[in-house]
Amino acid sequence: MILSQQADVENVQLIANRFISALTAPIVINGRNLYIGVSIGASLYPYDGEDAAHLLRDADAAMYYAKSRGKNNFQMFSVEMHHKSSTRLVLESELRAALEHGQFELYYQPQIGLPGNKLIGVEALIRWHHPQRGLLMPGSFIPMAEETGLIVPIGEWVLREACRQAMEWKEMGLLLRMSVNLSGRQFRQENLLATITQILQATRMDTSMLELEITESVLMEDAESTITRLNNLKAMGLELAIDDFGTGYSSMAYLKRFPVSRLKIDRSFIRDIPHDADDVAITTATIQMAHSLKLEVVAEGVETRAQLQFLQEQGSDLVQGFFFSQPKEAHQLSEMALAGKF
Ligand code: C2E
Ligand code: MG
Ligand code: MG
Repeated sequence: MILSQQADVENVQLIANRFISALTAPIVINGRNLYIGVSIGASLYPYDGEDAAHLLRDADAAMYYAKSRGKNNFQMFSVEMHHKSSTRLVLESELRAALEHGQFELYYQPQIGLPGNKLIGVEALIRWHHPQRGLLMPGSFIPMAEETGLIVPIGEWVLREACRQAMEWKEMGLLLRMSVNLSGRQFRQENLLATITQILQATRMDTSMLELEITESVLMEDAESTITRLNNLKAMGLELAIDDFGTGYSSMAYLKRFPVSRLKIDRSFIRDIPHDADDVAITTATIQMAHSLKLEVVAEGVETRAQLQFLQEQGSDLVQGFFFSQPKEAHQLSEMALAGKF
């Protein structure tokens, strides 16, 4: 929107606020209130830019800033934002190039069954071989990939590569369940089922060997539609796991209706076991609750023997963490597995 002849920044603020109140009022459709959120950014001619391209770019940066401060905000552009928005643009184009030039690699972290410490499966974790910055961990680029939507093609690559690898290992006599992280954006994609079906066929993957990990907060976002989506995935024969359990707000009523096989207790609860009485209580209760819902439990981030021992006593079905192994490159993992090193 162009506001002409607005000498006064405060006036711009007023107009933006009027927009926000108008747009955030509930819309009644079939007797139900629907809400939309709105984030507005603005830049000022001639201070922030002298042509349309610059003004739009700066307003866009301001809009992202407004978004980052929560819903229904307005923000004027400022110079500090400029730096952020150019970093964002660079990262976005680098991510596109990374996909094209094969700079991503999957590492695999063992999931160990208890008792008996048997290697049951692996979780695929993405890494980026950045041409200048070296090996990057997912925390530094997945959020941006989510924001730009690039997580969809990246996630497709991850699924395809993980399935391909699982089948290569199967040929070598190494039968492992393959867990793949699915982002919220991917989970809500209309054509997710078609994409997965296509990948399973192309890689000849055994459907039952594939597990999708979806975080608790993504699942609970729109729990009714989550149930339908999960049922559709389950009907294909896949396994489903709730990732980072305990960090979101789970409704027990929904939890029992989700057709999932496994629940992964977030690493933040495992870290201070057995010293922290609260974490001990939470973990014990979570394992009991999961078992009464007929779900298996995976404890994430197991680093010490004491943690392992506690989890085994409490009946955790699987453990994953540095105590057994860091995430490894594919060839390292299979060498260790075939040598019986887990
Ligand atoms: P996550 O799915 O909860 O994965 C577990 C993370 O914990 C991994 O970090 C793993 O390296 C780390 N970890 C495992 N054991 C230990 C331990 O004993 N101690 C400590 N301190 N850390 C441990 P990573 O690889 O950096 O991945 C971080 C997150 O990035 C993942 O969390 C997942 O949410 C996301 N991610 C990774 N790969 C993908 C992907 O292909 N697609 C999507 N959408 N997200 C991904
Ligand atoms: Mg995970
Ligand atoms: Mg996790």
